[in-house]
Amino acid sequence: MRILFDLDGCFANFVDGFAEVIAKVGGSIPPQSDSYPDVFAYDKRDLPPDIRTAAWMEVGRSHNFWMHLKPYDDKLMAKLSAVQHIHDFYFGTNRPGPTTKFQTEVWLMNWFSNPTVLISGDKASLAKALSIDVATEDQVSNANGIAEAMDGKGIVLLLDRPWNRGEKEENRVARVKSLDKALGHILWPDGEV
Ligand SMILES: [Mg+2]
Repeated sequence: MRILFDLDGCFANFVDGFAEVIAKVGGSIPPQSDSYPDVFAYDKRDLPPDIRTAAWMEVGRSHNFWMHLKPYDDKLMAKLSAVQHIHDFYFGTNRPGPTTKFQTEVWLMNWFSNPTVLISGDKASLAKALSIDVATEDQVSNANGIAEAMDGKGIVLLLDRPWNRGEKEENRVARVKSLDKALGHILWPDGEV
């Protein structure tokens, strides 16, 4: 199977990592950062624009910010790692910065042998061009776009997160509480790997 994984919000904890950067540039770590409306959309909350800009500049300058994010679920990463030779895994992300692709590859190499990282904001085109069977997302707009591009031919899993509950996914998108369970049904249906 060909699977397009989204990283931030699904597998990588960008929110907590970015909160640390915000503190570093003189802002305050947002309380309950998990409830932010969207992992990248800090402008939708009360973060002053100059702090937000400084934080993103800091991320852009850093050669290791993306390498040091925490995974949400280490066990799930291990399970995916165990089936990486059976399926085609693609990791699609719109992370900005000059060394982002390399940093993301290094991060993924904690679990995967030769991770394929695709940097693009156009997930729908990626999914279509790669004839993806399964995609994971935490952003409703991306999930809807992918479902549209795949035209009902694949499975789009939208991971239920506090920041995506205010938006409605389209019918072809499956909102799931757990990626472990949802991916497990598809990738290791006979039980634990
Ligand atoms: Mg995401």
